[in-house]
Amino acid sequence: MIIIMLGAQGTGKGTVAGILSKKNGWIQLSTGDLFRENISKGTELGIEADKYISKGCLVPDDITISMVKTKLEELKDEKGIILDGFPRTLEQAKRLDEILAGKGEKVDWVINLETPRDEIIDRMLNRRVCPQCKATFNLKLHPPKIEGICDNCGSKLVIRDDDSDSEAIRKRLEIYDTQTKPLIDFYNKKGIVIVEEISERINRFADEACEDFMKHIKE
Ligand code: AMP
Repeated sequence: MIIIMLGAQGTGKGTVAGILSKKNGWIQLSTGDLFRENISKGTELGIEADKYISKGCLVPDDITISMVKTKLEELKDEKGIILDGFPRTLEQAKRLDEILAGKGEKVDWVINLETPRDEIIDRMLNRRVCPQCKATFNLKLHPPKIEGICDNCGSKLVIRDDDSDSEAIRKRLEIYDTQTKPLIDFYNKKGIVIVEEISERINRFADEACEDFMKHIKE
């Protein structure tokens, strides 16, 4: 099964994908994490990707698609894959369809997370991530048990570079609106989008979104 997480930055795509993968034994494939891993290892891909990521821009389609294609090949025997942060452009979505069709597969579900814009910005400013196991925390909504330390692996939590720069945050949201939002329409036409609202205002968070999604796909 192939599932795509859609939604603006900071809506909780990684958290929802993490819960679903843990519960169902699915693999969470986050392009952001893959890029960050390459950046921290100083690989050629990381050096190239960092030029875009540090400014809040998207990494060019060709680089991103070829990285995902390789990864999907490695994961070909997995029963479920959640794509977290990919596709982000119409070109990526079309190429993904082609890659999957070549293997007799398709995108089964798209989870579209919706969160009010003011909450999104607050969530990004309060986000802390574990560079080791990639767990995500929120200082207000889901703080770590020990300040600054990952609950899962005990590593020191960090602020993502692109979350500490308000210009990069603004740019990423603008890119989401212009380049990624049109994907909702692309997948709506296939009838596979499930919208999940995540908002502090209505007290609805990742756990509830996951439960609702699981109910939906079992129907
Ligand atoms: P994320 O962790 O998903 O917010 O991704 C962090 C950054 O990695 C994004 O702001 C982009 O610069 C880059 N990135 C992640 N996924 C993609 C993608 N599918 N296409 C292009 N750039 C991406």
